[in-house]
Amino acid sequence: MPFDALKLSASGESLSGEVDAADLPRVADRLAADAGAAKLAWRLTGCRDAQGRPALALTLAGSVPLVCQRCLQPFAVIVDQSTELLLARSEGELARLDAEEIEVVLATQRLDALALVEDELLLSLPFSPRHPDGECAASPMVTGHESSQERSSPFGQLGELKKTIR
Ligand SMILES: [Zn+2]
Repeated sequence: MPFDALKLSASGESLSGEVDAADLPRVADRLAADAGAAKLAWRLTGCRDAQGRPALALTLAGSVPLVCQRCLQPFAVIVDQSTELLLARSEGELARLDAEEIEVVLATQRLDALALVEDELLLSLPFSPRHPDGECAASPMVTGHESSQERSSPFGQLGELKKTIR
């Protein structure tokens, strides 16, 4: 969904939609397989930052199924993200703003809304997802053989190894 980011910023208007995270190629392989919906509502609103520079406010809300790295079971991770993306009007400005360590995107060409959503989602997902304390099934009583056997990730193999030792 290409759009003119500087124009959106100037108008203060919004773009919004819904996306299935499983359709975002760089996110899809981090999701738990066959673990249900990964629907996210997104909204991009044109705005200005505190210094009056053109920006976009990006919000993401929904939940995605990730695999708990402790018990290797899928669980829903709530996504509730709100970020300001500064718009750079040239390569030079991009380099300068990047140095300030704020989130900045080059807006000399039309931007793709879903690519921005995907970037933001990748940044907001936990690197090593785990159930909250007290909700994890990883205990000596729970083995979960059927699910761990179909996994081939290094984490899955590590889980098998731990069980064998125990
Ligand atoms: Zn767990």
